[in-house]
Amino acid sequence: MNETLSMLLELQQIDDALRDLSQLRSQLEEMRKENQQALAALDEILSIRGAKLAEVRGLCEAKEADIKESEANIARSRQRLNTLTHQREQQAATRELETAKRTTQQRNEDLVKLLEQLEASESEHRRRQKDRESLLAEMQATEADLVRRIAEREAGVTELTGRRSALSGKLPRDLTSKYERISKARQGVAVVPIAAPTCTACRMSVAPQTFIRLQRMETLETCTYCNRFLIYRPTDGEPEVGLSE
Ligand SMILES: [Zn+2]
Repeated sequence: MNETLSMLLELQQIDDALRDLSQLRSQLEEMRKENQQALAALDEILSIRGAKLAEVRGLCEAKEADIKESEANIARSRQRLNTLTHQREQQAATRELETAKRTTQQRNEDLVKLLEQLEASESEHRRRQKDRESLLAEMQATEADLVRRIAEREAGVTELTGRRSALSGKLPRDLTSKYERISKARQGVAVVPIAAPTCTACRMSVAPQTFIRLQRMETLETCTYCNRFLIYRPTDGEPEVGLSE
């Protein structure tokens, strides 16, 4: 292949690799932000539910205290009953005792219901806390994977940027500036390798006579529509310059 063409192609491959790295970095930043937000939302729910749980626990304790109180009433009524000799007083004390017994029974039933509610809420809360832990672990693993991929690419950056300036220096200056101009205007893509008469960047057709010239790989051709450099590359399987995966 014409040396200029091959240098332009390599320049583009280097820029692709560098762009890929910068996209991965933004992806990581975005991912961390989203993960933090998701965790914060989850923690808020957990904290609200935690407060509700504490409330139910408080209700249970209050109910237990009430039960102790009515049990004390029963004991008192029984003692009093033993000391009374008049029938009317005894009847009144018996009624008091019956009332205290009913109250105690009702309070015990209430406590059982509250304890059931508490147990269900506590198990739900534990499940949610466990879900949060798994989610966090999953998030950390995904982040670590991305960090690793970025680090791998970063290891090759110095070599790539060095190679890039060497290429820029070797190419004619007007060509380098044209490359930079197109690259800036066209989202970092100035060179388009094609195997068929279509510019794969803008999807427009390439004129047959241009395609024939492209196939000879002796002249520098550009897309009539998007102005990018076109380079004929019949096979896609050739190894490319880049930061390894
Ligand atoms: Zn084009």
